[in-house]
Amino acid sequence: MDEDTPRQAIVDTVKRLQDEGFNHGNSGNVSCRIAGGMLITPTGANSANLTPSRLVRVEADGGAIGGIPSSEWHMHAAILDAYRAANAVIHTHADACVALACLRKPLPSFHYMVAAFGGADVRCARYATFGTVDLGTSAVEALKDRTACLLANHGMIAIGKTLEAAFQTTVKFETLARQYLMALQGGEPVLLPEEEMLRVGERYGNYGTGLLPG
Ligand SMILES: [Zn+2]
Repeated sequence: MDEDTPRQAIVDTVKRLQDEGFNHGNSGNVSCRIAGGMLITPTGANSANLTPSRLVRVEADGGAIGGIPSSEWHMHAAILDAYRAANAVIHTHADACVALACLRKPLPSFHYMVAAFGGADVRCARYATFGTVDLGTSAVEALKDRTACLLANHGMIAIGKTLEAAFQTTVKFETLARQYLMALQGGEPVLLPEEEMLRVGERYGNYGTGLLPG
C-alpha cells in the first residue's frame, strides 16, 4: 500500500492543528490507519520539525518502525482497534476542551450541533495517566457511538473516516466547548431535550459520520 499519501496527510493535519492554535508545543498527536497497522506522529513532534519520513509506523503487534512513536500510541491503537470504521485519530490539548475536561463535564446538549458527534452529549472519559494502556481503555469507553470525547484533566480526541473528517470534528468540538464555557459565564444554559437531539441527529443523516452503528 502506498504510504506516501497518508504520511503527507498527517503532516498537513499537524500543521493545520498548529495554525488553528490547537497544539501547544509538542502536545498533540495524529494517527492514521494503514494496512497492517497505523502511522503516527513521533514523540516530540511539532509542525516545525515534522516531515513525512519522521512518522512512525506501528504494526498490529505494537512493533514500531522508523522512530519512537508518540507516547499516546497505545491510545491511538486501542481506538483504531475498537472502531473499525474510523481510520484517523486526532488528539489535542486545545484550550476550551482542556478547560471543560478539567471540570470533568461532558459537553451537553446546549446547542443542536452537539448531535453531530453522534448523540445528545460528548462524554468526558474517566481520568487515567497519560501514555498508559488504561487511558486507551478509558477513551474507547467514552467514544462509544461518538466521534469525539474529552479526556479528564488532559484534552480531547476526535476520530473520523478520514483525517479531514477528524480535523473538522476537532474544529467543531473546540468551537462548541468554547461557546459552552461562554454560556456558563452568563448563567445556566438551557439544554435541548433528548427527543430534539434525536430529531437533529436524524437531520444530520444519523449522524453524517458513518462511524455509528446503523
Ligand atoms: Zn495529551
